[in-house]
Formats: sequence, C-alpha cells, structure tokens
Amino acid sequence: MVRSVYLDHSATTPVRPEVSELMQQYLRNKFGNPSSLHSYGRQARQGLNWAREQVAEAIGANATEIIFTSGGTEADNLAILGTAYAYQDRGRHIITSCIEHHAVLDSCKYLEKRGFRVTYLPVNEYGEVDLTELDRVLDDDTILISIMHANNEIGTIQPIAEIGRRAQERRIPFHTDAVQSLGKVPIDVKQLGVSLLSASAHKIYGPKGAGMLYIREGSRLDPLWHGGSQEQKIRPGTENVAGIVGFGRAVELAIAEMESVAGRVNRLRDRLWAEIQTRISAVKLNGHPSQRIPGHLNISFVGLEGQSLLTALDEKGIAASSGSACMASAIEPSHVLQAIGLSVDQIQGSIRLTLGRDNTHEELDYVLDELPRLVEQLRGPDWNGAACPCER
Ligand SMILES: *Cc1c(COP(=O)(O)O)cnc(C)c1O
Repeated sequence: MVRSVYLDHSATTPVRPEVSELMQQYLRNKFGNPSSLHSYGRQARQGLNWAREQVAEAIGANATEIIFTSGGTEADNLAILGTAYAYQDRGRHIITSCIEHHAVLDSCKYLEKRGFRVTYLPVNEYGEVDLTELDRVLDDDTILISIMHANNEIGTIQPIAEIGRRAQERRIPFHTDAVQSLGKVPIDVKQLGVSLLSASAHKIYGPKGAGMLYIREGSRLDPLWHGGSQEQKIRPGTENVAGIVGFGRAVELAIAEMESVAGRVNRLRDRLWAEIQTRISAVKLNGHPSQRIPGHLNISFVGLEGQSLLTALDEKGIAASSGSACMASAIEPSHVLQAIGLSVDQIQGSIRLTLGRDNTHEELDYVLDELPRLVEQLRGPDWNGAACPCER
C-alpha cells in the first residue's frame, strides 16, 4: 500500500486549521484596507496590530520594530540591500557566511557587482562559522554582518549571541536569517544581539507569502520600494492582511507549543536516525550533532544518487528533499555540503528528512520499511559498503 508521508517541513509546512480559519475571516468579512479610516479599515488595522504584537513578543522585540514583508526572501533582501544603501557612506564591507540561504548570498553577490566588498566566512565540519576568521576580517569598513540563525540544509544553529557581542561592541548592524529557527528554538533579539532578523510564515504552519523583518529601534535602512506609507514607509504597499494575521496566529501557536513539539519531533527524529543506522550501512549525519533545529536530519547515503533516492521515495509516497527546495532543480552540488567538507560521493548521496508536528511513529514504520530496501536497490548488488572510506 502506498501511503503518503511528508518529511520536508524545512521546505514548507501545511497551514494549520487554526490559522486558515482566522485567515478566512479576514479574507471574507474583515476585508477592509487597513489604511482606510472607516470601521472596515479599522478592523483590518486591528488584525495587523494584533499580529505585530504576536511576532514582536515571540522574539522579544517591540511591535514598532516589526516590518511585515512577503516572506523570508524579501526580508533578507530588505535587510541586506537596505542596510548597504543606508550605510554606504560609512563603509563598503559586508561579512556573511558561505552557507547562507540564496536570498542572502545572491543579495550579497548583487552588491559585490555594485562596488561592495563581501567576505564569505568559512564553516567547520558541523557548519558552524569560524569566529576567529570573523575577528580577523572585521574592519573599520565593515557596515553589515549577516549570519543565519539555523541552516536550512543541515539544521546547524550558529553561535549568534557571540557574533552579536562583537557586532554591538563595534556598532555594526547585524542581520540574522531566522526563517528556520523561529518557533522552533527560543529567540530573543536582545540576548542574540541582532539588529535585524528575518522570518517567514510558511515554515511554521502559516501561509506562503507572509514574513517579517525585525529592525531594531534606531537602525538605519533604505526602503527598496516606494509608494504609500505602510509599514513605516520601509515596505510600502497595501498589506497582505489575511496572510499577516495568519502569520501572527502561526507564531502564537508555535511559541506556545514549542517545547512539546520540539520534544516530540526530536524523539521521532532520534528513532528514525537510530534505525537508519542499524538497517543501512555507510550512512553519515551531516550538520551539528546537537546544535541543530528540532526534527532535522541530513544524511549521506554513500554509493547512490540522492536524486534517484528522492524519486524512489516519492513513488512510495514519501516526500523528502535534497538540501534546499529552491535548488532542487539545479544540478549544482549543494554549497552548504561543499562548505562542510563532504566528498563528492557524500554530497551526491545526501538527502534531507525534516519532521513536523503531525508526523507519527506509524509513518516512520512505513519509511523504515521502504528506505533500506530502496537504498539497497539503488546501490546495486556489487556495491561493497565495507570498502567505503566514509565515517559515520
Ligand atoms: C525558506 C527560507 C527562506 C525564504 O523564505 P520565503 O518565505 O520562502 O521567501 C529564507 N531563508 C531560509 C533559511 C529559508 O529556509
């Protein structure tokens, strides 16, 4: 029997019923333009205010420091380009890491073509940025540091507070992409020492097309778009009210349930990984062994093509991915797996399994039934795992 098991929660998540029900109200009844002064407008405005409070509270910020965007990609672009433009008279050096999401990497590459200098910090075998290297490259010309909180491909959580301390000492704007960590691990912008933080609704059971950028009070930032005075003129345009309200509800629920869900998905993940290790030879867990987001597994199955394994799993109704949804169609090997020093074989054989709040042990039974068989088939009868030099 082909079942359907969704193990790609780092790519996106289903909208929770509590979220879609609230969104329905704002799509159908409370449909006013939040800039309108009549009761319809005020009702929509109240929804935005409420959502802003939820998001602000979730990260220890003030509501006035939250700017809603169309998602994580826009928030990253706004943080990086907006800061670079606002600070270009003070300096032209930007520091980021080589394992960032493409929303950050490609924004930095765009700025490089426009006269900015970008340092891409290396990472260790677990995907943690090299702080010694950060100290070495920080200079008087540095106007922005952008290091992600948790990596989407390998789940590694970065030592953000240690970077934040350095940024604050030098009064350098510090951005973190927290799309993968919001609602999964505790976040306090003051404790982390960040001045800019991106997040997205659809990674935490909210709708696609809604996200936010936290901008610390007093930070300078140029808008990328021009028009109305919405979102403090930093992000003009009539707000995506239903999406934003849905984001607010998704954040509220994620924070309230964070500990219990993390415990549950980590138990599922631990079981999945333990049984994969006993049933399948020559497997390697990529990313940090403990400093990782809940429910995240990136595994190299040496001796096969990860893409073929994904196709075979899909035929069995099991949805997994290679490191990043955005890159799934690209042929280029993952920049993240390259950066942590994996061999070509290990990169080619890697897949990402990301568990979510609705996954069950019964679903894992099914996956653990199918996966070893598929791996064996793809490796073929001549494959000799013992001869493989890869470590566990
Ligand atoms: C998904 C993701 C993004 C992009 O967010 P969207 O809302 O899909 O634009 C950015 N950064 C990270 C780390 C992500 O996982």
